Amino acid sequence: MAAKTDTQLKVVSHPLVKQLLTRLRDYQTPSSEFRLRASQLSRHLMYEAFSDLSTREIGVETPVGSAKGIVLSDYLILAPVLRAGLILSEPAQELFPAARIYHIGLRRDETTLQAISYYAKLPEAVPPDSRVYILDPMLATGGSAVAAISLFDKLGVKLVNLVSFVASPEGIKRVHDKFPHVQIVTASVDNNLNEHGYIVPGLGDAGDRIFGT
Ligand code: URA
Repeated sequence: MAAKTDTQLKVVSHPLVKQLLTRLRDYQTPSSEFRLRASQLSRHLMYEAFSDLSTREIGVETPVGSAKGIVLSDYLILAPVLRAGLILSEPAQELFPAARIYHIGLRRDETTLQAISYYAKLPEAVPPDSRVYILDPMLATGGSAVAAISLFDKLGVKLVNLVSFVASPEGIKRVHDKFPHVQIVTASVDNNLNEHGYIVPGLGDAGDRIFGT
């Protein structure tokens, strides 16, 4: 899949991804279609985000001979940020059924725009070489992303990826200022944030549009 990449920012530029994102941006797209397109986009982005998974070589017998193959060898954690991140976790889990899923509840104080944690059911320890995927369709101010990454940083996890539909330059900077090692996978880097912390042009409130609220 074609992608524009610098080391820690991967902007996926496949035409299917761009077309799906366009349907999500359109304010006239009804919620039923939005959910479907958002799920399809999630699958493409997760496929891209998983492109550097670790593998181990194995041999396999076909009906007519021997072949070399691989098995995936990562201890993989999906961390959807509630509630909009749920749209990414289902296709991600289909692609990697052995993944553990740790839900993270963060909401934004609409006045201060600070992320407030209301739920985080994380284990006390995870293998230090775990690979974590923080799932949140909108990387806006970066407050929720930094809060979510911090939870895993405290557990000693360094292989952290953040998957979003749309990212703002401010959000990317905030994440990379604090956690330069985090790889961000997104379908678009948009222009800026407005005074309410929404991405412009973005696609509006992802959670409201996914869940029809
Ligand atoms: N959350 C959203 O759903 N949309 C934005 O533009 C910013 C944060």
